[in-house]
Amino acid sequence: MAFVESQDPNQLHFLVIPMGSPGHYIPTIDMAKLLAQHGVRVTIVTTPVNALRFGSILDQAIESGLPICLLVFTFPYNQFGLPEGCESIDDLPYVGLASALMQAYGSLREQVEEYIEKLNPKPDCILADTFLLWPGETAKKFQIPRILFDGMNCFTQMCNHVLYLSKVYESVGEFESFVLPGLPDRIELTRSQLPFAFNPRLKGMSGFNEKLRVSESEAFGVVINSFEESEQGYVDEYQKVKGGKVWCIGPLSLCHKDESEKVQRGNKSSINKHECLKWLDSQENDSVIYACLGSISRVEPAQLIELALALESSQRPFIWVVRAGHKTEKIEKWIDENGFEQRTKDRALVIRGWAPQLLILSHAAIGGFLTHCGWNSTLEGVCAGVPLVTWPQFQEQFYNEKLVIEVLRIGVSVGSQETVFWAFDEKSEVFIKREAFIKAIEMVMEEGKEGEERRKRAKELSKMASKAIEEGGSSHRNMTRLIEDIKNQARSKNLS
Ligand code: UDP
Repeated sequence: MAFVESQDPNQLHFLVIPMGSPGHYIPTIDMAKLLAQHGVRVTIVTTPVNALRFGSILDQAIESGLPICLLVFTFPYNQFGLPEGCESIDDLPYVGLASALMQAYGSLREQVEEYIEKLNPKPDCILADTFLLWPGETAKKFQIPRILFDGMNCFTQMCNHVLYLSKVYESVGEFESFVLPGLPDRIELTRSQLPFAFNPRLKGMSGFNEKLRVSESEAFGVVINSFEESEQGYVDEYQKVKGGKVWCIGPLSLCHKDESEKVQRGNKSSINKHECLKWLDSQENDSVIYACLGSISRVEPAQLIELALALESSQRPFIWVVRAGHKTEKIEKWIDENGFEQRTKDRALVIRGWAPQLLILSHAAIGGFLTHCGWNSTLEGVCAGVPLVTWPQFQEQFYNEKLVIEVLRIGVSVGSQETVFWAFDEKSEVFIKREAFIKAIEMVMEEGKEGEERRKRAKELSKMASKAIEEGGSSHRNMTRLIEDIKNQARSKNLS
């Protein structure tokens, strides 16, 4: 991997600061590649394990001459009681260490500022993860415009915005449904489905939320991993809120065309690429259900077993990605002792650990995606042109479900009613019963009129997504606009 920095003082220079969660790190790395493809020099602030895990996907791009450099800083594991090598939320041995991890990220500030101090000229832009607060202070100190990235779409930003303004959620019961006011579509949710900022169960976070709001209001703008055609009304509204400083430049995952890149995105895959492709090649087009719940969901084993039995009952071919954080051992024990794999071996592929999701989703055999509605997965499903079975867990995932089902009309819900947030809940309850999974899977995979129309809409949306990042497409234009906006900032700074 190239760690050496190229130097061309005339080239626009972005300092990119990602955060240690796959759902944030992966798209940030993709964004760095896209920026470099648009001629921007990019330096990514990273740490030893993250550099290898998330950064190695850039090797090919760097070798081909793209101006990307990884700046690897030491990570203070010991100082914060983290196990050696633990730099990402999904690697935490237990969830109680999450705040230690955030503090360790906070401590990178000093090293980054020392680096900027020595640079002449200074970077033209700091593109930082929203959940890191210190880059705001650093940007102010060096008078560099700061752009935020939180991995969410404009639909989510607008849902949050109208909730903050209206406080409508305060006057309803936890499971009482209410309409989010002032949105382009009629969107109904319950308080029990809202992200932590509005969720009565997670009041302890209110101090952090307030700091986030201040930090967001001080930033120059926001980059969004989506494309305008998928959420036009919400993009327009969010542009108004942010004074035009919103740039939708996605879908970011489409920057990887090569199989070899797709297979190593986010982590070393737990399954051999050839084995995976051989299995997929042996299945009929549009026939396989792919079930994966992202990188950090820690669904209770009892609930995962319910899902597994539903997949088995569906009688369709499926891929099931098994991961339950510190509870993985329990679920693997069940798989081994119950004979599940043996019973389903003719039509199932069980992946224990990290799946090459992009590779899988881009195969013609995939006919439906059962997802937890993390935004990256949702958008990757959109790009693949497959209908979705939606099973949101926490954070903004219930918003994403609404976008998929009510606005884009490319999915069917399993009927989840409340957030299950692993850092706080230790419930062994089964919230979603086998029958609910089976019903949603059948609806998504059915060949009747409704199913066909849903599939057709998904395929059309996928075409729009591909066009958006090509030259002349909306996201391509927005990337050019972002670069121009930063150039203008740099010019006006030089004049003052
Ligand atoms: N992912 C993957 N293989 C896995 C699990 C996740 O490649 O086995 C990737 C997935 O493609 C997506 C990211 O990890 O890009 C997860 O982000 P998302 O926003 O969907 O969910 P989160 O993990 O943040 O809940």
